[in-house]
Amino acid sequence: MSQNAALAPHASVWEGPLLDGFGRLHTDLRISVTDRCNIRCFYCMPAENVQFRPREELLSFEEIARFVCVAVRLGINKLRLTGGEPLVRHDLHKLVALLAGIPGVRDLALTTNGMLLAEQAEALRRAGLRRLNISLDTLSPSAFRQIARRDGLERVLEGIAAAQRVGFDSIKLNAMAIRGITEAEVVPLARFARQRQLELRFIEFMPLDAEGRWQSDQVLSGAEILQLLEAEFGRLVPVPPKQPGQPASDYRYQDGGGLVGFINPVTQPFCHDCNRLRLTAEGQVRNCLFSTVEWDARALLRGNGSDADLAWLIRQCVAAKKAGHGINSEEFVRPQRAMYQIGG
Ligand code: SAM
Ligand code: SF4
Repeated sequence: MSQNAALAPHASVWEGPLLDGFGRLHTDLRISVTDRCNIRCFYCMPAENVQFRPREELLSFEEIARFVCVAVRLGINKLRLTGGEPLVRHDLHKLVALLAGIPGVRDLALTTNGMLLAEQAEALRRAGLRRLNISLDTLSPSAFRQIARRDGLERVLEGIAAAQRVGFDSIKLNAMAIRGITEAEVVPLARFARQRQLELRFIEFMPLDAEGRWQSDQVLSGAEILQLLEAEFGRLVPVPPKQPGQPASDYRYQDGGGLVGFINPVTQPFCHDCNRLRLTAEGQVRNCLFSTVEWDARALLRGNGSDADLAWLIRQCVAAKKAGHGINSEEFVRPQRAMYQIGG
């Protein structure tokens, strides 16, 4: 369901922090730049015949930058570009340069499947991208094909190597945690990350797959993965969070092998600390991955909406945020959109 914000009532729309009804301060914005993707992970997209949004429906780079300028005036200071696969959006480095140049943007990151990273890493870094998360669920070409329903592991590995050569402030690897698949990948992925001095994070499988096949017993919990890692590498020591609202629980290997993290939205929801908003590729603002309501920023961007109208829309969206996603409750309603249509 999409909502049009009533026009901004008065100038005070610019005053005060971006707080929701539970006192959570919003500082992070995830921006999806496309719903398209060059692979078809079963936990995210349909296998075939995907209905993508027509290109003219997607926000232009200038529209995204205008939205971000308004959001930054309200207190947003961290941005992450995502999708779909953000690197399939033509000339993405130009958007990075636009956003990196907005005063008040303190952090600019990107989540990618890595397939096109070898070609783009340098341009992205030069444009001002600071941090990268690269998804890597397996080091086995056949498991990759089973998960992504396309070939491509070699390209992802080349992308990771290219990103390391270019030198970002931080590069993290994201691995999905799915029972029956991930157990065999945990130790090889951890060895790979340790050798390359990359932080690896395991993410619990959420009910956002396009085919609607998610079952709670497919969730391989962070606690179970921690046990598998400790059996191989010895006891892991918890590391205090670096920032408020950080979704990952980080641990340190005692032998100096770096950090490993767990994002446990299903078994340990972190909604009480959530500081995020999301902008979909076609300009809908969401206050949660699991929102069933959206606020239509594109209508304002393409109509004659003022910056104050956009600010008011953002405030309304934040104010309506629920206490939590409720995945584990009986009343939980899956959102109509799948992960690739929201922006993970
Ligand atoms: N295409 C890019 C990628 O895969 O990194 C960016 C978009 S993808 C939707 C962002 C992240 O969401 C990825 O790390 C992916 O593993 C994760 N993801 C996708 N579907 C998910 C699901 N059902 N539950 C939890 N995480 C999911
Ligand atoms: Fe594409 Fe990322 Fe979804 Fe995989 S998780 S299908 S790479 S958008």
